[in-house]
Amino acid sequence: MSEKFDVVIIGGGPAGLSTAYFLAKAGFEPVVIERGQEPGAKNVFGGRIYSYVLDKHFPGWRKEAPVERWVRREKLSMSCGDDTITIDFAKKKPVSDDEFDSFTAFLSKFVAWMSEKAEEQGAMVLSGSKVDDVVFDEKGIASGVFADGERIDADYIVIAEGVNTLLSEKLGIRVKPPLETTALGVKEVVRLGKEEINKRFGTEDWEGVAHFFIGDPLKGIAGGGFLYTMGEYVTIGAVIRLSEVGKKEITMKDIAEQLRLHPAIYEYVKGGVLMEYSAHLTREGGLMDVLEKPYGPGYLVVGDAAGYILNTGFTIRGVDLAIESGRLAAETINKAHNENKRDEEALSHYKKLVEESVIGRNLREYRNLPKFLEKDLLYGDLPEIMCELFNTAYTTDEQVTRIYPVLMNSLKSHGIGWFTLLKLLMEARRSI
Ligand SMILES: Cc1cc2nc3c(=O)[nH]c(=O)nc-3n(C[C@H](O)[C@H](O)[C@H](O)COP(=O)(O)OP(=O)(O)OC[C@H]3O[C@@H](n4cnc5c(N)ncnc54)[C@H](O)[C@@H]3O)c2cc1C
Repeated sequence: MSEKFDVVIIGGGPAGLSTAYFLAKAGFEPVVIERGQEPGAKNVFGGRIYSYVLDKHFPGWRKEAPVERWVRREKLSMSCGDDTITIDFAKKKPVSDDEFDSFTAFLSKFVAWMSEKAEEQGAMVLSGSKVDDVVFDEKGIASGVFADGERIDADYIVIAEGVNTLLSEKLGIRVKPPLETTALGVKEVVRLGKEEINKRFGTEDWEGVAHFFIGDPLKGIAGGGFLYTMGEYVTIGAVIRLSEVGKKEITMKDIAEQLRLHPAIYEYVKGGVLMEYSAHLTREGGLMDVLEKPYGPGYLVVGDAAGYILNTGFTIRGVDLAIESGRLAAETINKAHNENKRDEEALSHYKKLVEESVIGRNLREYRNLPKFLEKDLLYGDLPEIMCELFNTAYTTDEQVTRIYPVLMNSLKSHGIGWFTLLKLLMEARRSI
């Protein structure tokens, strides 16, 4: 005999758990099936979550959620050789925690908290079980899943399997995304202790730093490095397109190591204890990776699995968009259920909601960015030209060196003419 739930949700990441939370809140009986031994066991991310989506829908979360630090300092570094130029933006000190728009967190702890919230509303979370297939009824409507050989029936199925879309590919919902828009992220967790972090970063206990790097720590590879301060730890890592990893014949372990040992980062993490290393796929295609049809008869696709992730080079946003897509999926199912419908047309309402939401608006606005970020110029030539300029401006000796001729020479030696620069600026105008 098979079990029956209102909704089966495949995957217990932020998207799946958000769907479960909102469905249970609306009176449904959803079950989340997660292949990890506990929610969060299989998830990897850098370290920052944007608050607006929680402010809107999770009352009291600022006191309850596992926040490591509130992000007040934003840093952006460009390195060439051992030289580094850094922009350090410290937001004004807020009067209360309620004003911070983002925080650092460990995704495993955050997902465990989301799981608790969903269970409090009445959802069931089943960990350590992998969904192998979706069952369609005689009318072609998704009506259950097979998990570890057992059948579980449901009126609706929500696919929240994350970026590794094996099930969606098997079901023909999406084709394997191209290498060009697939990226690999690596992350290391270094233990330093609270006091040491505060001393090195000039922060208070609650205060977090988000730091992005381009240029030499990654040896000119198209991609970016990141560093986030947690309570007792610092996370460092990089996100690099898979096509680049192949081209440069470099392993992700090498990339993590050279990032950690670069002077711009080493001064922050030296003497720390390396606690953890992890790697995970992610998407960088923005709108290009978004599923044309994130719905079908009896099913919806949410979060990374639907392509709702935005990497702008200075921020990476997946968790907030995953939570929002889960909310919209729950709203769609609620509406379809009230109309007693499970067909494709009824569930297509989800796509409309997504397009009008923060997800659609952001992905459309940044639709040209992924192509712009492919430019090698940004990762090798640009940092070198900037370093030459800064070296001239801030080195004083007997020579008289004006900055403008240095800029001209530097551009010339990198084979960059006015036309290339103008084109780059025009493309930046359309992309950023
Ligand atoms: C290196 C790196 C850094 C990142 N940094 C950030 C950041 O700082 N901020 C941010 O907002 N986002 C960041 N992201 C992106 C963010 O992690 C994702 O966008 C987010 O986790 C998406 O949530 P999700 O629920 O869609 O997918 P996931 O979090 O991947 O969850 C999917 C879940 O489904 C489970 N699953 C898969 N298949 C099955 C199956 N067949 N049966 C059962 N369970 C299954 C998996 O085990 C997993 O738990 C980063 C990503 C990477 C790789």
